[in-house]
Amino acid sequence: MARQPNPGNARKEKKDKAKDRISNGSARLKNRRPEATADYLKYGEFGIEEVRCKLCSSVIKRLAVVPDLERVERRGTQTIVTQPVVLKELANYTEVLMEMDDGSAHVTPMCIECAKSVQAEDLEDMYEIDMGQASKDEELGLGEVYWESWADRKPKGSKKLRG
Ligand SMILES: [Zn+2]
Repeated sequence: MARQPNPGNARKEKKDKAKDRISNGSARLKNRRPEATADYLKYGEFGIEEVRCKLCSSVIKRLAVVPDLERVERRGTQTIVTQPVVLKELANYTEVLMEMDDGSAHVTPMCIECAKSVQAEDLEDMYEIDMGQASKDEELGLGEVYWESWADRKPKGSKKLRG
């Protein structure tokens, strides 16, 4: 009887391959653009509190109070103010859709300024940084990454989705 390939091993192989690309991408980007960051999410007590552009480190999303949803409650002599917060897109926020060489697509957030002059090398490096983030999220149990597709595909072009 022929041996069946072990899907668990194949997946791990792809993930290891992706890990190599991840470390190369952020180092290369930092070399070309000293102001770039692979550490583009800032976590606080409410989860993600800030999102930065990977190419220039400008803040593009920030936690903000929703004034319309503020609630004031009085309990005896105490006043309790509840202020709901959301991760708000700032005026410089946009998203870029990367067309991948396998026909799939990948969307990444960035600032409007950088989106105007995004280069092919930037796309590759940003994609590798996103794989790094996806890998961290996966380790935190925030969802499995389909490494079988993610590890090998490469961006071949991009278009700005808005802004
Ligand atoms: Zn930027």
